[in-house]
Amino acid sequence: MAAAPAADDVERMEFQLALRRRGISDQAVLRAMDEVPREYFVAPGFTESAYADQALPIACGQTISQPFVVAYMTEKLDLEPQHRVLEIGTGSGYQAAILARLAREVVSIERYRTLVDTARERLKTLGYTNVVIRAGDGMAGAPDLAPFERILVTAAAEEVPEALVAQLAEGGKMVLPVGPRHDAQYIVKLTKQPAGALTREELIAVRFVPLLPGQAREL
Ligand code: SAH
Repeated sequence: MAAAPAADDVERMEFQLALRRRGISDQAVLRAMDEVPREYFVAPGFTESAYADQALPIACGQTISQPFVVAYMTEKLDLEPQHRVLEIGTGSGYQAAILARLAREVVSIERYRTLVDTARERLKTLGYTNVVIRAGDGMAGAPDLAPFERILVTAAAEEVPEALVAQLAEGGKMVLPVGPRHDAQYIVKLTKQPAGALTREELIAVRFVPLLPGQAREL
């Protein structure tokens, strides 16, 4: 008889099942969620809850997003292996690692220097070579590296940042939470038509930390 799976195998199976139950069906996204070790990205003291379907605190008063929301936004991006992706809000680097498994290159911008340094170190240790992390104001994007086929924002904006729309390639897609700071926020998916017009879809209700202007003055 086969040995009983170790507790962490059970946990990982439950993690996959929970994502499927909530409607995630893209096999590549599910595989990426299985392959990235979430326990490396949560704050020490929270590793026990790493695979629970909830957001968890990280340094600088920020959060690592809930696994379902990470998988959902990733699925909505319709990533292809040749894509270059811009992520705003590196946080722990977890979402960047997921994106890096599905796209050619990820550029991720974070306003807290401490989070930039930790995420960079983590991704290097885990062997990611296709993620560039920058300290700066993500609302301004990365004009020197644009255009991007895909843009993902992981902090809630009150309005869609225009600079990011400008950096989206023709035919490109952007997924972001939009809404007031303490009220209903929705995941919005924008698609830039070949002629430059945008189509907009409002998806599920979510709660994200706010997208704040400028680079953080504190570390
Ligand atoms: N994607 C992250 C979760 C990020 S939480 C993860 O996988 O862990 C949102 C992050 O956006 C926070 O770290 C916050 O500091 C950052 N942020 C907020 N406004 C920003 C801005 N204007 N530019 C860059 N980062 C920003």
